[in-house]
Amino acid sequence: MNDLHPFIAGLPKAELHVHHVGSASPRIVSELAARHPDSKVPTDPDALADFFTFTDFAHFIDVYLSVVDLVRTPEDVRLLTFEVARDMARQNIRYAELTVTPFSSTRRGIPEVGFMEAIEDARKAAEAELGVVLRWCFDIPGEAGLESAAETTRLALDLRPEGLVSFGLGGPEVGVGRPQFKPYFDRAIAAGLHSVPHAGETTGPQTVWDALTALRAERIGHGTSSVQDPALLAHLAEHRIALEVCPTSNIATRAVADIDRHPVREMVEAGVLVTINSDDPPMFGTDLNGEYAVAARILGLDELGVAGLAKNAVEASFLDPAGKRKLAAEIDTYTANWLRTPAQ
Ligand SMILES: [Zn+2]
Repeated sequence: MNDLHPFIAGLPKAELHVHHVGSASPRIVSELAARHPDSKVPTDPDALADFFTFTDFAHFIDVYLSVVDLVRTPEDVRLLTFEVARDMARQNIRYAELTVTPFSSTRRGIPEVGFMEAIEDARKAAEAELGVVLRWCFDIPGEAGLESAAETTRLALDLRPEGLVSFGLGGPEVGVGRPQFKPYFDRAIAAGLHSVPHAGETTGPQTVWDALTALRAERIGHGTSSVQDPALLAHLAEHRIALEVCPTSNIATRAVADIDRHPVREMVEAGVLVTINSDDPPMFGTDLNGEYAVAARILGLDELGVAGLAKNAVEASFLDPAGKRKLAAEIDTYTANWLRTPAQ
């Protein structure tokens, strides 16, 4: 089969499901760890690689939270955010909705106004200097309970940064039912934010139904177990509710046992709007280009098929209509030029 990696590398892309702290590359993590020597995160590259090898979902949450602990000052936040955008620019990601968990940072003592200024400063610099348009999804860390939901809602609505477009819910699903977060999502939606909770990653399709009915989800983070329920797949397809699929993450966290049997095939066959995303890319040893290559292999796609996935992400994004048309046209132009000159 045709090697799609060079095509994917240059393809203009949008990413809809990627976490702020979870995007910290080993280099950035090592810099932050060196600045905060009391942390338990190792600083040398080999030890970091071991540290980033997951045994199960609970271990992943442990590692994730210890990296969260390295981000302690507004300057840490600014550095992390801008460096994440630099990694995106290298992959030709033009637009990203970055999931930020402000509660985790403000609870650790970062002043809330300083936090908002740091992400906004990085967002403006990323757009001006790197050509990467960033938007924020503020998410509730489910493991921290309803207190974190109330605080995340307050931070989102009272301090609302200019780049904020959506409201999410992450962390573990087992024992953290979606419906209890309804009052917070109601307030965020009433204030004009889009609803994008994680659901159906580590629990069954009922969690996805709960996200749709209680939290009025407009997209679903993962939604992997949706394929167990044909009526749910039909509902997602009919209402163009996109799934944010993150193939390598699902393997790393053991949500899916075998990459070649990833349910993304059934999702596409059912007509669901599938988007490809990287979730916590350096922690899972991947990036968005890697995830497109994995998806292309599982789905048996050629260049036009891969470009179709990239356009799905544009359609499912919260870009304004003119921005969507512009990015979709860039994808079409790039693909047409590529196919016209096959010897690249
Ligand atoms: Zn996620």
